[in-house]
Amino acid sequence: MPDALASRNVDACRMCGSASLHRYLDLGRTPLANSYLDEKTRSEPEFTEELCLQLCRDCGLSQLTKVVHPDRMFRHYLYVSATTATIREHFAEFAATVAKAADAKPGDLALDIASNDGTLLAAFQAVGLKPLGVDPAENLAKEANAKGLTTWCDYWSVPVAERLAREAGRPKVITAANVFAHADGLVDFARGVASCLAPGGVFAIECPYLVDFIEKSEFDTAYHEHVSYIGLTPLAALMKAHGLELYDVEYFPEIHGGTIRSYIGRAGERKPTGRLTEALRKEEAFGIKDPAVYDAFAKRVLDNRERLRGLVEKLRAQGKTVWAYGASAKGNTLMNFFGLDSSSVPRAIDDNPKKWGYLSPGARMEIVGIDALKSAKVDCLLLLAWNFEKEIRLRCQAAGYAGQFLVPVPEARVV
Ligand SMILES: [Zn+2]
Repeated sequence: MPDALASRNVDACRMCGSASLHRYLDLGRTPLANSYLDEKTRSEPEFTEELCLQLCRDCGLSQLTKVVHPDRMFRHYLYVSATTATIREHFAEFAATVAKAADAKPGDLALDIASNDGTLLAAFQAVGLKPLGVDPAENLAKEANAKGLTTWCDYWSVPVAERLAREAGRPKVITAANVFAHADGLVDFARGVASCLAPGGVFAIECPYLVDFIEKSEFDTAYHEHVSYIGLTPLAALMKAHGLELYDVEYFPEIHGGTIRSYIGRAGERKPTGRLTEALRKEEAFGIKDPAVYDAFAKRVLDNRERLRGLVEKLRAQGKTVWAYGASAKGNTLMNFFGLDSSSVPRAIDDNPKKWGYLSPGARMEIVGIDALKSAKVDCLLLLAWNFEKEIRLRCQAAGYAGQFLVPVPEARVV
């Protein structure tokens, strides 16, 4: 009997369809980075899948070799975007900036695809737009609706886009924050947007930037949900193929280790900006389609693995207690790929109370709140959520922590 939740082999690029793919970093078979274990599931075997990256030589899109069935990943999602102040402030700015770019008027429809708990929808409401969300996670859609932020519980697709245009009208603004890199069917994603975006409207995508991923050796932002590693070159080609046009870009070095915000309109409506042209030129110089660039990255990651394992072993040999901070998806990738688990790092602090009491997938660290630091003698915190380093160090100091931090990426170091 075929497995209804079987993974999909990626043997053609999800943006351009090419079969010219180059495998460059194999992170091994790992559990899903967001499948935290409760009292019941911790005694059951964990689902694991290959986590391996490949490059499309034709358009420059990096993508995983396997796509885990979305129902295994997105129907119940513990990541809640409102958790950190950095993200909340960023979304408030995002909503205001995109509304302005689209010249949206009060009451215009703003659609957020994969709206999570409605943080960005609330920001749209605050600038006078009419927010509408689409999200497949039943628990989060329910939470957003309870707050009065209308959210359809569904995956984004062409039929959903057409229904939306019929029943809710054409959105003047469409946003996709941290979902574009998670969607398998990007051709359908773009077609859905093209079918409902209002004339003169703006579609803005935020996603981690491929060039940072490679240049800063951020291999731990790879996890099964994150199926594409996106640069502007392949994105521009995808949009062009579907009647849309990438015309501008902004760069946020502090968000998720380097994030790009791409602005897209209907083809021919706007002129490409100077900063987009410059960014595309830089990608060409970087070698976005050159397999050798990616092979060199893989070698740096393997070297860093040895270095970090050595540092943790040394601390343990000195009788020191090492905990982790940030039971995030990236932390789970790092722990599993580096072969670290609860025997050397027994606990992970996380700021999201929804995760407390769970075990992290694979490594099985017990997830606790920051208050646990007060009653335990901890010598070193492995900073798994290194993208929030500043915020975390301040919080730990406020909680009375005086120990060291071990920053794992791009090169493991003790601070
Ligand atoms: Zn391609």
